[in-house]
Amino acid sequence: MQPDLFDAPSPEQQAADYRSRLNRYNSEYYTQDAPSVPDAEYDRLFLLLQALEAAHPHLITPDSPTRRVGGAVLPSFKQIQHVVPMLSLNNGFEDADVYAFERRVREALAEDGIEGSDIRFAADLKFDGLAISLVYRHGVLVQAATRGDGSVGEDVTEHCRTIRSVPLRLHTATPPDLLEVRGEVIMYKNDFEALNARQRLANLKEFANPRNAAAGSLRQLDAKVTAQRALRFFAYGMARCEGAQIPATHSELLDWYTEIGIPVCQEQAILTDAADFLTFYHKIMQKRHELPYEIDGIVYKVNTLRQQLQLGFVSRAPRFAMAHKFPAEEALTTVLDIEVQVGRTGAITPVARLAPVQVGGVTVTNATLHNEDEIRRKDIWIGDVVIVRRAGDVIPEVVASVADQRPADARVFVMPVNCPICGSAIVKPEDEAIARCSGGWVKCPAQRKGGLWHFASRKAMCIDGLGEQLLEQLVDKNVITTAADLYKLGVSSLAALDRMADKSAQNILKALEASKSTTLARFIYALGIRHVGETTAKDLARYFGDIHAIMDAGEEQLLQVDEVGPVVAKSLLLFFSDPLNRELVEQLIAVGVHWPLIDASEKQEKPFAGMTFVLTGTLPTLSREAAAALIEAAGGKVQSSVSKKTSVVLAGDDAGSKFIKAQQLGVRIITEEEFYQLLGT
Ligand code: NAD
Repeated sequence: MQPDLFDAPSPEQQAADYRSRLNRYNSEYYTQDAPSVPDAEYDRLFLLLQALEAAHPHLITPDSPTRRVGGAVLPSFKQIQHVVPMLSLNNGFEDADVYAFERRVREALAEDGIEGSDIRFAADLKFDGLAISLVYRHGVLVQAATRGDGSVGEDVTEHCRTIRSVPLRLHTATPPDLLEVRGEVIMYKNDFEALNARQRLANLKEFANPRNAAAGSLRQLDAKVTAQRALRFFAYGMARCEGAQIPATHSELLDWYTEIGIPVCQEQAILTDAADFLTFYHKIMQKRHELPYEIDGIVYKVNTLRQQLQLGFVSRAPRFAMAHKFPAEEALTTVLDIEVQVGRTGAITPVARLAPVQVGGVTVTNATLHNEDEIRRKDIWIGDVVIVRRAGDVIPEVVASVADQRPADARVFVMPVNCPICGSAIVKPEDEAIARCSGGWVKCPAQRKGGLWHFASRKAMCIDGLGEQLLEQLVDKNVITTAADLYKLGVSSLAALDRMADKSAQNILKALEASKSTTLARFIYALGIRHVGETTAKDLARYFGDIHAIMDAGEEQLLQVDEVGPVVAKSLLLFFSDPLNRELVEQLIAVGVHWPLIDASEKQEKPFAGMTFVLTGTLPTLSREAAAALIEAAGGKVQSSVSKKTSVVLAGDDAGSKFIKAQQLGVRIITEEEFYQLLGT
């Protein structure tokens, strides 16, 4: 019988398929430092291949990715044969894997009569970088090598010499004759962001993550390039030591390293059993995103080095250690569609509707794509397989598409010509990335709802109980059009809405009444003028003291205000050039919205009225908070960066770039003593 074309693949075909994909991913990840799929996808295929090989041992080939470590060595580097192989680690994801690891270790050591409290475990963070071997002879760094394929690595001695945290000479008068340190070269998250920003500026390819940036920066033909990249090093093990007393445990080894100047991460623990492991694991997972570098799990190791030797190795990993990986923060899924949302200022935001996927501990079904340029830059098509990332509390994002998995029927996203809500034209000024609905709040219910929601929000008019759903009903049922209509609502119109009883209607009316008594700054902010945030609203209120003065101000006058630059001024002029917006202000005042007058004489009396300060360096007696409080109490304002509009820079010891900028711009710089004199105290 002819085989059916749609027959399920045989285990042989399946294994060959997994192997070829894993081999390709290995080459992209280890050799080219440019992975095309998330680690979770690699790990998923790896587990599938492992399971297949376990069920059909005859399928195991010596070159199977499940038997090998790392990737090929780049021919451009000198090769270094590792005296002690550099292996990988067995991974676990589940609690059960951790219990199984402890049990295996205890059972194996019991055969040598080692039991109970004689067995302790050390827990280290699992740094997401690349493994390095550093060889010191008589205390001097003589060789550094990458892991390569585990047996042969690349000579990166010159490169590692440029890493500041790698000591060129050990800090001891009695160094061992030979010491081979094993550890990880990593890149801190902020250095990674800065590097990618530079790559972007130079039109060069960005790195996918800090691990690849670290690997790509170290494995450079020219060590001078490595020297310009901020790499760091943490030691976590030892391969060889001659001519010195070898520490008895892993934790003592790390202490010794610290003593002789080899950097070690201070976040470690000594643990008794699997229950302990899990407590430590969860503690670190909580603070993982606060760490300056990326980690992808915890490594548990038998603490006593002699016991480690007794346990030995299986094909590609030690038996005495396991990596307990954190849940993946990146996963693959499919873009089902790209829709657009309309924001309160009319901004049109494309949103990817995704096939539901578990990532970072939650199910993700959609992710913002920000704007059209971003979609083009990331080359995301409808139907594409994409990498979705959700790290910590950060909202999910589509990182990239997997180009070689693009289906034949994938479609390019086209920005609609009309607003999906009100049908008005969508416009995109040439100098802006964001497209907008031109309907404004008069025509576009989405903008009306968004604007009203902003108006009622806590930092604006602070109308308690007037939530998004309620506003939505009020707009959809045409009960209100403008913010002024809110103040004309009665109990009957509110109580007629879904899920609204008389009592809650009364409460909302009370909140509306209370909100009428506000401040000018809040009122300006509540109007929802583009680019006018809370701080700018405060500045405008302080400078003009009167809403009509702001409404009638020309560009030049607006530019006199701190925080107001050409963009904000233009936006204010545009807003108040619309008679509907001017009328709205009058209507709000007419329904009773009011604020205390800002007393011009009070403004004048305060010594720092109208002045802006920037603080830099450490002051002799005042903390920054105390200095800022004094400035504000005296009518001044504290800003974070120096500009031409800054009145004074208050500088202490170790003042940095702000001091230099102030000098360049000719801004007055004063000491703490001069500050007190100015203050009149
Ligand atoms: P691994 O990264 O899972 O674990 C082994 C490595 O952990 C060691 O070589 C060492 O460099 C490092 N390590 C960090 N901190 C350590 C510590 N405190 N103690 C000991 N070792 C520590 O294993 P691997 O073999 O390097 O890589 C396999 C993993 O790489 C996969 O699980 C996958 O996530 C990822 N990978 C991804 C792709 C891809 O295409 N996305 C391809 C290949 C591999």
